Amino acid sequence: MMENAVENVVIIGSGPAGYTAAIYAGRANLKPLMFEGQQAGGVPGGQLMTTTEVENFPGFPEGITGPELMVRMKAQAARWGAELHTEDVVSVDLSQRPFVVTSTDRTVRANSIIIATGATAKRLGLPSETQYWNSGMSACAICDGASPLFKNAPLVIIGGGDTAAEEAVYLTKYGTHVHMLVRGDKLRASKAMQDRVLNNPKITVHWNTEAVDVFGESGFLTGVKVRDRLTQETRDISAKGLFYAIGHSPNTGIFKGQLDLDETGYIVPQIGTVKTNVEGVYAAGDVQDHEYRQAITAAGTGCAAALLAERYLSMNGLEIEFHQAENTGAIAEESKPEAKAETKTETKVVTTSANFDVTATRYVGGFALRKLYHETDRLIMVKYSSPTCGPCHSLSPILSKVVDEFDGRMHYIEIDVTEDPEIAESAGVVGTPTIQFFKNKDKVAELMGVKPKSLYRETIETYV
Ligand code: NDP
Repeated sequence: MMENAVENVVIIGSGPAGYTAAIYAGRANLKPLMFEGQQAGGVPGGQLMTTTEVENFPGFPEGITGPELMVRMKAQAARWGAELHTEDVVSVDLSQRPFVVTSTDRTVRANSIIIATGATAKRLGLPSETQYWNSGMSACAICDGASPLFKNAPLVIIGGGDTAAEEAVYLTKYGTHVHMLVRGDKLRASKAMQDRVLNNPKITVHWNTEAVDVFGESGFLTGVKVRDRLTQETRDISAKGLFYAIGHSPNTGIFKGQLDLDETGYIVPQIGTVKTNVEGVYAAGDVQDHEYRQAITAAGTGCAAALLAERYLSMNGLEIEFHQAENTGAIAEESKPEAKAETKTETKVVTTSANFDVTATRYVGGFALRKLYHETDRLIMVKYSSPTCGPCHSLSPILSKVVDEFDGRMHYIEIDVTEDPEIAESAGVVGTPTIQFFKNKDKVAELMGVKPKSLYRETIETYV
């Protein structure tokens, strides 16, 4: 459906670049409309949703988790009037003015656009990759590493950058040993991260080594075939998990043919600015940056893009101001960091025999699943998550809204796989978030990762 009003500025993407642009545009009374994304290009909130501690973002001397930082940026954007839609943009038309932006749910017109679509984790495309993807292979150790599949097992990570270094250290919490495959003879990671890797007795760095293929048994990964790039010798490394950390590709598919892109797909801004070759269209964050790619540089370019968009709108007489109510010190209740589901500070009441109520809708923990499995004829929806999994955090508010629609007609149980590893293991959970649906003791459906809200709703409607 085409909405009539023309937006001042549409922001596409919701990492640090997108949210910072929204904060600045919001404070300029432009009431920015942001498409946070859903699946295209990763999870809402971007790559920081799949990291653990961020120790180099100024202002957080003790560090802050990536997901918490993004929850805070989002709250700040909402506070200043940004209109946020958790939808993927499927096309843009930059050939007409106002520009036209179409998402999965709506079409809007915009006088300016800020592109902050970021980049997506790359895969190697090994011959047997499709067979073992989600059955031992993953592109996000932080999301999936806590799965029972990887506990007390040897693990492999490929890459030598900061992501690989951070994830290798993280994986030592779960695996018996972590093999890090580095294709060259040095690590690209920062010196501090290099030290942590090289001094960790549970990590072995295999220099000049590349993966050739993976193999397994009964559908699950059991090892990686590797080749020494100097001698060409091949050998097998036993492993139950293989994690890619080999960098990212820019999310620019919808702009091909409309904007200047370089040979690897990055948007090419005009030198020294965040202006693209189309006036009124700006690019911020990783989508235009293959050099620095830091949260702080993304935020900086998001700020620059919003300032330039404001200048462009005002110079061309296109700006429509939305004055904000005298406030704006108050943060909307639902946007407060502490109100967001599953941030670091949140504690959930675990369901026990003392508080179990078979007529309730929401539960937490394995006890509820064991009881309900035998005692209910309602549909049971189980969310398996882990504390460090950013996509799990993104999914919580989405699921919460859907569950509200079916209140009293289904049961919803949240299981933390680190608290209830046996349950997760017997349920065959190999990554988080995983959603399983049970009816009359049968597993009737399973959805892995973050899916559109409509898919959860349709699945529930089918079985409720
Ligand atoms: P990088 O591009 O920095 O590193 C990618 C790594 O993967 C390199 O070691 C590269 O090897 C290797 N690689 C690439 N392609 C292949 C391949 N086909 N086969 C084998 N190895 C391959 O990506 P990151 O995701 O690590 O980091 C991206 C940005 O995010 C960086 O700027 C980084 O500093 C930042 N970051 C910062 C963090 C922090 O500060 N806390 C945490 C994580 C990331 P080679 O070196 O040979 O090219």
